[in-house]
Amino acid sequence: MGKPTGFMEYAKQKVKEKAPLERVKNWGEYTERLTDKDLQTQGARCMDCGTPFCHMGIEIRGAAAGCPINNYIPEWNDLVYHGKWEEALERLRMTNNFPEFTGRVCPAPCEGSCTLGINEPSVAIKSIERSIIDKGFEMGWVTPRIPEKRTNKRVAIIGSGPAGLAAADELNQLGHNVTVYERADRAGGLLMYGIPNMKLEKSIVERRIQLLQEEGIQFVLNTEIGKDVTADALRKQYDAVILCIGATKARELHMDGAESAGVVPAMTYLHDVTKSYLDSNFEDQKAIDVKGKNVIVIGGGDTGADCVATALRQKCKTVHQFGKHPALPTTRQQEQPWPADPNVYKLDYAYAEADAKFGGDPREYCIQTKKIVADDAGNVKQLHTIQMNKIVNDEGYAYFEEVPGTEKVWPVDYVFIAIGFQGAESPLAQQFGVKMANNRIQASRFDYTTNVPGVYAAGDARRGPSLIVWAIKEGREVAVEVANFLSKEHAIVQ
Ligand SMILES: Cc1cc2nc3c(=O)[nH]c(=O)nc-3n(C[C@H](O)[C@H](O)[C@H](O)COP(=O)(O)OP(=O)(O)OC[C@H]3O[C@@H](n4cnc5c(N)ncnc54)[C@H](O)[C@@H]3O)c2cc1C
Ligand code: SF4
Repeated sequence: MGKPTGFMEYAKQKVKEKAPLERVKNWGEYTERLTDKDLQTQGARCMDCGTPFCHMGIEIRGAAAGCPINNYIPEWNDLVYHGKWEEALERLRMTNNFPEFTGRVCPAPCEGSCTLGINEPSVAIKSIERSIIDKGFEMGWVTPRIPEKRTNKRVAIIGSGPAGLAAADELNQLGHNVTVYERADRAGGLLMYGIPNMKLEKSIVERRIQLLQEEGIQFVLNTEIGKDVTADALRKQYDAVILCIGATKARELHMDGAESAGVVPAMTYLHDVTKSYLDSNFEDQKAIDVKGKNVIVIGGGDTGADCVATALRQKCKTVHQFGKHPALPTTRQQEQPWPADPNVYKLDYAYAEADAKFGGDPREYCIQTKKIVADDAGNVKQLHTIQMNKIVNDEGYAYFEEVPGTEKVWPVDYVFIAIGFQGAESPLAQQFGVKMANNRIQASRFDYTTNVPGVYAAGDARRGPSLIVWAIKEGREVAVEVANFLSKEHAIVQ
């Protein structure tokens, strides 16, 4: 419960960040750990609220409320307050396979549902989570857990993102023989080639993959199932297959000039920058470099923000991010009552950096790109935009209207398209004979079964583009279902 009066005595300490103008000079993580003493004080703020909501993990109007993996938050807050770090780690690892990822980049719906958050800043749950696992690695408490016995069952997992890794971890710990197939040259899915290094250092991802390998999981990289190995061939070798292929098929921009050179999907930009950084510290020059260039990101979400932060580190001349919607309110609205996600305006890391560098938030709200114009050589040179009004009619239906006289022309050298994802790629599902609907693999939200016996699906591929914490949850849950399926098949313990 922390200290009974802690929440009245101590203020919330936010996630510790390096100074924006300093951190944009390199690609290292922009956040830092709080000291043990500060963390104990933060743990002391957990107030034994009796019925905690921080760990309930439900969806309210499509957004997470509470921790989706039901972390035992009040318990580890209390253990940290009492300096019992190793016990806190044990508690954390019961529910979260990869706290070093969520402790860095989870949007922390737990904090939005913290009871203290009703009238005070919430407990600093995410900072505490990160520190427990970081300390665990530092102290040598996180060591390979190699199963003592193996069954004769073989499971193939396609995709090495957080869903595939969590499923692999759980099934391996039960003694099954798990192979993870990944088409990229490095494992981790979007943990590796989506989320930029300054949010989640790739050495952190590699450390976990190494541990999973030492625990007995096989990783087969540079191998695209459906192309390099057919679905039929795979099914013959394995007792069960789990599709964790993500949902990164990007939405395309259809408008005049969209085919111009310099108009690039955001994921191509982010992937190439990370790969070039990891392969050669950019010496191979295989990624776009926007140094000295005018950059515009179309799309107001988090992927767009990561493009802004990447462009800043490459020393772009200007950067703007266009979003269709108005700015979020600064305080929780009536329609988002506690314990729902407050969904309020935040100056995320990328925007704080742009603000420090250029003296303003790079986001442009309620703006619509009308056309993209290229020069004679076919290189993008201008974006033509107009402002929009968002109107909500009496039935609650929202629509946009152009505001006459607000047309504007923006000079630009690179345009990154970050307007969201359609969903999962369909050819692989077709090869397996698995049904899809709305660009998602059709798998039960209760037992993750598809229409093909022995083939399961989890993570973004099943639920649509989401968050790491939901992917971990689905990975853990599908593993339970696959283990039940395998036990019915009379797994032999060797
Ligand atoms: C730019 C960006 C930033 C993000 N930032 C955050 C964040 O800060 N916090 C957060 O919580 N979430 C964030 N997300 C969302 C989060 O990364 C995803 O929700 C999560 O990674 C989904 O996990 P997954 O395992 O389902 O799929 P993915 O992580 O997408 O992994 C799927 C893997 O399957 C592989 N694959 C696909 N098809 C095949 C095939 N046929 N054969 C072999 N391999 C295949 C892919 O190469 C990929 O590696 C971000 C997403 C993006 C795009
Ligand atoms: S995983 Fe996310 S929601 Fe759960 S405790 Fe950690 S930060 Fe909070």
